[in-house]
Amino acid sequence: MPTNKFSRREFIRRNSLTGLGAVLAPAVLTGTSASGSSSPALPTSSSLAEPLALLGGKPIRSKQWPVWPIWKPEQDEKQLLEVIRSGIWSRATVVSEFEAQWAATLGVKRSLAVVNGTNALIAALAQLDVRGGDEVLVPPYTFIGTVAPVLATGAMPVFVDVDPETFQMNPANIEAKITSRTKAIIPVHILGLPANMPQILAIAKKHNLVVIEDACQAHLAEIDHQKVGTFGDAGCFSFQNSKNLAIGEGGAVVSNDDAFMDRCFSYHNYGNPYGMVSGVIGAGTLIQGTKMRLTEYQAAIGLAQLKRLDAETTTRNTNAAYLKAKIRSIPGIVPYKLYDNVTRAAFHLFPFRYQKEAFKGLPREMFLKALAAEGIPCSKGYATLNNMPYLDDAFRSKNYQKMYPKAMLNFKGYVERNHCPQNDRLCNEEAVWFTQNMLLGTQADMDEIANAIEKIYTQADKLLSQK
Ligand SMILES: *Cc1c(COP(=O)(O)O)cnc(C)c1O
Repeated sequence: MPTNKFSRREFIRRNSLTGLGAVLAPAVLTGTSASGSSSPALPTSSSLAEPLALLGGKPIRSKQWPVWPIWKPEQDEKQLLEVIRSGIWSRATVVSEFEAQWAATLGVKRSLAVVNGTNALIAALAQLDVRGGDEVLVPPYTFIGTVAPVLATGAMPVFVDVDPETFQMNPANIEAKITSRTKAIIPVHILGLPANMPQILAIAKKHNLVVIEDACQAHLAEIDHQKVGTFGDAGCFSFQNSKNLAIGEGGAVVSNDDAFMDRCFSYHNYGNPYGMVSGVIGAGTLIQGTKMRLTEYQAAIGLAQLKRLDAETTTRNTNAAYLKAKIRSIPGIVPYKLYDNVTRAAFHLFPFRYQKEAFKGLPREMFLKALAAEGIPCSKGYATLNNMPYLDDAFRSKNYQKMYPKAMLNFKGYVERNHCPQNDRLCNEEAVWFTQNMLLGTQADMDEIANAIEKIYTQADKLLSQK
């Protein structure tokens, strides 16, 4: 232990002098092709020894980060203005064009645009016949937008703990959660890193469960060169403002199953026959539906964003690989792991685990404050979703009381059965995120992130003696 500590300290001292970049040159060389960046800002012993910004020193970075969303009037506005001037604002040809391009981009047969990712999941669940009385397996490490749709259909979310190395639902924990009520699994490609689809699909097949991929953060991510969202019975995407393809609000369901997609179309338009859109009265409504239609101007914004998505995704992958290679050697910093079969990630977020023991016990909260003060925006990410009051609220409703035995609805018992210790550790102690717009910066920007972390590492004792 002391030997280890010494060698790590030695490592940092050495790199303060030579610069991390020099040590990591091979990784740098393999990961730089697309970022087109300038010379890396190597840390010097003096910049690491500068007082911490949180304690009044000069921040590592004072420049702005790339803004999001991106809008380039010259190339983005032509079609949008045409739509606005046409007066055809409700769903018509531009939405269809966006759907066709999204399907082609993913290499999937069909795509249906809807109002947001949450409703994409609601439509998919409803048309795969997930109902009150069913159980749906979900990871706890996700946005509420994964779980709210399960409750909206009247089904019971059952939480499957994560693999902390990948931040994804751990397939090894799935089978223990399957009961006679289990109907579906929702793997979430959380943070834009692909979930372990081959293993999840095999388990689903064995137990005859439907699979709905929540790919709301994972635009263009791939497993063995196949886009995520195209593995399951359905894939759901979000185009909310923060997402890697931003429309403000918007979503899509994708699938290769024509009959399912026809039903989703009907469902998103009151249950009226497939292909029928706005302005039709007395359509001969066929199935129970609701209204989730995207507008023409939203689709025009989506088409403009779609033109840049592939190049942006490449930049994020390049910068993420570079940053990961630089910070993984800092003690106490454990970056995400990708499964071996991942050929591309989306990096909606860049995650790592912060292990305070290596930072002399400096709490994550203080580390985040110090990092933000150095000009590096960061977040601790999700709170635990598997024990919040919204679940109890659903369980107290008349529908849940009718559809489930009392014992299943006892909130204390539910929270105990759905305890996910690995997720608790990520949420409450270890996870740290950077947002996707930061990964659109240059390699020098990534160097500043790494330098700021290293600066805090070398001076953690000063923060501790402060408080
Ligand atoms: C954003 C998101 C959703 C919901 O999408 P909206 O478009 O915001 O409704 C669902 N799941 C995950 C994982 C998300 O990140």
